Amino acid sequence: MQNQASVDCVFCRILLGNAPAHVVKQNALAVSLLDINPLAKGHCLVIPRRHVPWWHELSPEENTALFVLAQETAASIMAAYKPDFVAMYARGRRIPHTHIFLVPTAKGDPVDRHFNALEGFQEAIESLAHERDPQVLAETLDRLKSSDSK
Ligand SMILES: [Zn+2]
Repeated sequence: MQNQASVDCVFCRILLGNAPAHVVKQNALAVSLLDINPLAKGHCLVIPRRHVPWWHELSPEENTALFVLAQETAASIMAAYKPDFVAMYARGRRIPHTHIFLVPTAKGDPVDRHFNALEGFQEAIESLAHERDPQVLAETLDRLKSSDSK
């Protein structure tokens, strides 16, 4: 596969054993670890072993391994800290190596407020109002269905 480990990538350095990490769980294609700058106690990251910026560029096998490990890690977070649930989102921009955020969250905490603000933003921005129009939604659906890559 392409995407060689990058010496500039902290996650690749961790995976090569060249940087410290608090590994929580691992499987053949993915590793979960504590975020060293947590948004909440128990905040973990799940990373593929291969250096790929975006989760949707991983192979189906890598995505399966990544999301299975995310589920297993979330179960540990739920058992240990008993949040309302474990929020998930994927990044790859600031560190160009796919990383899924697993953040335990409860009503009113910083993560809950962040996503509530994002939803408020989504509904309040005038330039996005056009996107809610039924005709625009129908066109979007047609475009996505006709762009199926398989
Ligand atoms: Zn990397």
